[in-house]
Order: sequence, then structure tokens, then C-alpha cells
Amino acid sequence: MNQFVKPKVVVSKCLEFAECRYNGDVISDPLVRRLQAFVDFYPVCPEVEIGLGIPRETIRIVETEGVRQLVQPSTEKDLTSEMESFSRQFLHQLNDIDGFILKSKSPTCGIKDVKVYSGLSRAPVIGKDSGYFGKAVLEHFGSYGIEEEGRLSNFSIREHFLTKIFTYAAFRELKNHPELHIKPLIDFHSKNKYLFMAYNQAALKEMGQIVASHKQQPIHTIYQAYEKQLHRLFARKPRDQSNINVCQHIAGYFKQQLSDDEKQFFAEMLEKYRNDKVPLSSLTSVLKSWVIRFKNDYLKVQTFFEPYPEELVEISDSGKGREYS
Ligand code: SF4
Repeated sequence: MNQFVKPKVVVSKCLEFAECRYNGDVISDPLVRRLQAFVDFYPVCPEVEIGLGIPRETIRIVETEGVRQLVQPSTEKDLTSEMESFSRQFLHQLNDIDGFILKSKSPTCGIKDVKVYSGLSRAPVIGKDSGYFGKAVLEHFGSYGIEEEGRLSNFSIREHFLTKIFTYAAFRELKNHPELHIKPLIDFHSKNKYLFMAYNQAALKEMGQIVASHKQQPIHTIYQAYEKQLHRLFARKPRDQSNINVCQHIAGYFKQQLSDDEKQFFAEMLEKYRNDKVPLSSLTSVLKSWVIRFKNDYLKVQTFFEPYPEELVEISDSGKGREYS
């Protein structure tokens, strides 16, 4: 079984951690609950941090004459600068964070689709945007794993998020070692090769060149350049076709040993995956069984087969199907 470094994740405190919503509620979130054994969570409630009590009157984003504010309609209090200043300070002091799970639709924590009103009371909604804290997170940590709890019920979004935070956590542990050496980076690159290939071939190539140039550059420069490409690589989810290419590539290792029937079976599985009839894990399970059977030690450690703890794999979906962003 693979060992995983625990990702460090900031989470909206009202998700599982505290009864801090405006009405004193806490939101039950099965994923956050399940992740607690695998992730170091840093819960925060920005509204409580700026001094709004529990319970409290609701707040909203209001835009009038091109000026946007975070306002508490019942008191007409403008909370914009307090929230901006808290967000700046909080995010500035964060060290080595791998991701964020934020409450959707909140004028504070939401990262998209937060209602923007045209006035205080019964004013209509004139648009949607990020909440104030959510926007600051996107500005400061845009290339990290950032998701809203609602979107994480979608299987492919969740898979991308978990892959990202567990890979960032593994890299963070390498780069924070008091004495940097090239060998751990070479090993990291090697065991992530097929995962990275599925994500972004151009970034993978660039990362390979960075590792290969280690004799010409100071080691810190190598790690920094590598990290930059790692974030570029995870900017979007892998395409189905990229996953198929990687699976075919791995299957190619065994072409001499497999029977025609096995090859035919695998070709049919690939077709089913292409047509959304089976998940990627069906393909990787078959490949993994061949890796074990034919004792391929190089492939055995590839993170493509298990990019995050398998206890967190759950095929269930919100029903929205695959999404690509
Ligand atoms: S959404 Fe954010 S600000 Fe609102 S209660 Fe939850 S943690 Fe606090």
C-alpha cells in the first residue's frame, strides 16, 4: 500500500467543524468527514473572525453605481474593508497549504455563482461572482486545489481535486527537506510519469528537462522551476483521450505476454471508457493486475494507478456526469 503525505487544506469552518453559520447551523458534509483521517484541515470562518456573532444577520454582496460592497442589510454596515483586510492577513500567514474546500454560494466563502444584488432590501440579483474571501483565495492561491463542497460531489471534479492536493503534498514534503538533493526529485518525477503524461504532456516534458539540467543550476532553482511546471500541469483535468493514451502506453509493456483474447478484452474496455460506460478505475484495475502478474517494478509504483488513498475512491456522482474545466 502506498504511503501518502497528508495534504494541508483550509476548510470553511461551517462544513463539519463548527456551528458558525448565520443561523447557528453546522453543515454536514460526508466528504469533509471522510477526509479528516487523510488530511490536515485548517478550519476558518471569516465572518466570525471579523467579529460578526453567531447567530447573526445575513450579509450580501451589493453593487450600486459600479461600486461593490459586502453589506449587512439589516444594519446597513459596510463590511468590505474588514473582510478584505482579514482575508489578506489570513492568507498571507498561511504556509505550505495544498488546497481549500469552501462553502458554496456564500458571499464570503463562495468561489463562484455567489449572488450580487443591486441594493439592500428587495433589490434584484444583477449577477454572480466569487465571495470576498473566496476571491482572495483565488487571487493568492489560484493554482492550488480550490473547490466548493457542492462541486466535490461530482466524481471527476473530486478525483481531480484529490489527485492535485495529494501530489502537491508529496512535492511539498520534498521541497521542505532541510537539505535539498536531486535524487528525491528524480524519484518523484519517475513515479509520477504516467499520471503527469495523462495531465499535460508538454509540462511533463518541461519538467523532465528541468530535472535533467540539475548540474547547471542551483538545486533551489531546480525545485522552484519544477514546482511552477507542476502547477501548470494541474491547471485542468486530464482529457479522456489522454487517459486512454496512457493506458495504451502501459498496456504496451505487456504486448508480448498477453493473449489475443486479453488484448481484445482490453480494447473493448477502452472503447467502453471512451463512451462513458465504465470509469477509468476499471481500466487501471486491469492494468494493475498485469503489472503484478508480470512483476513490473517500475510500473508498480506509478501514481497513475493510485494518485490518492484508495479508501477515498468512491464512484458515486452527483448525477451531473463528467465535467471538464
Ligand atoms: S460560509 Fe464561510 S463565513 Fe459563512 S459560516 Fe461558513 S465558514 Fe463562516
